Amino acid sequence: MLDHDRLDAMLTRLKLTAIRERLDALLDEAARRELTLRETLAFLCEQEMAHKDQRRVQMAAKIAKFPMLRTLESFDFDAQPSIDPRQVRELATSRYVANGDAVLLLGPPGVGKTHLAVALGREAIVQGYSVLFTTATALVTQLARAHAEGRLEDRLIHFSKPKLLIIDELGYLPLETNAAHLFFQLVSRRYERGSLLVTSNRNVSEWGGVFGDPVVATAILDRMLHHSHVITIRGESYRLKEKRRSGLLKAEVAMTSNH
Ligand code: ADP
Ligand code: MG
Repeated sequence: MLDHDRLDAMLTRLKLTAIRERLDALLDEAARRELTLRETLAFLCEQEMAHKDQRRVQMAAKIAKFPMLRTLESFDFDAQPSIDPRQVRELATSRYVANGDAVLLLGPPGVGKTHLAVALGREAIVQGYSVLFTTATALVTQLARAHAEGRLEDRLIHFSKPKLLIIDELGYLPLETNAAHLFFQLVSRRYERGSLLVTSNRNVSEWGGVFGDPVVATAILDRMLHHSHVITIRGESYRLKEKRRSGLLKAEVAMTSNH
């Protein structure tokens, strides 16, 4: 076998994909930078690790079932002055996941709650945590169906496994008593085992109405608010604001062209 083929086969067997695929380019670069053998080896390892990390994040993001691709880099903090960027940066370290704390993102529609939830979910994945994204409606629908079919336990395990469970849009629809009970079962199952990140268009003080039964509501809130980080977003919808801004721009153009 040719040396080249042998090396290729060894890199394949060692699963050093990034090195194998770009070996010539990487060795050229090492030569150009006049790296020592040891430095070259470190350089190749770095490339392989970066590639593997990227693949891992991609796979985990797929498993997390995010509804959209959003990052913290693409979040415009200037457009949302009610958010403290430092608080978001602190959450981006995912320490709250390590501690099993909860995060609540509250605010009216369109202010970036889902965007931030997805972006923070992604950061948690980068830190190595398993993440699952769902909406409150999808969650209780699945639990109720599983309950009816006698396989609630399976579903509870499914939703309890990820280190971070993101529940989007809690409170858009009030939950029926049965659904609130199932929700409570999940929250207590996860309690102090994993983190919850919940978004809602309702204030915490209105959650009693969301869960119907005040006893269940208190029990849920008790667990969710214990060790929680709350971000309350005020202001108007980002999309509306953008539209209005472009509308304003058009109006200005029309005015100047009238001169
Ligand atoms: P919410 O979940 O609060 O209803 P979304 O997160 O779905 O709002 O935001 C609506 C759209 O506007 C999304 O496409 C989101 O990426 C975008 N968006 C909202 N706020 C911002 C922001 N501050 N910077 C960049 N994009 C934003
Ligand atoms: Mg949303």
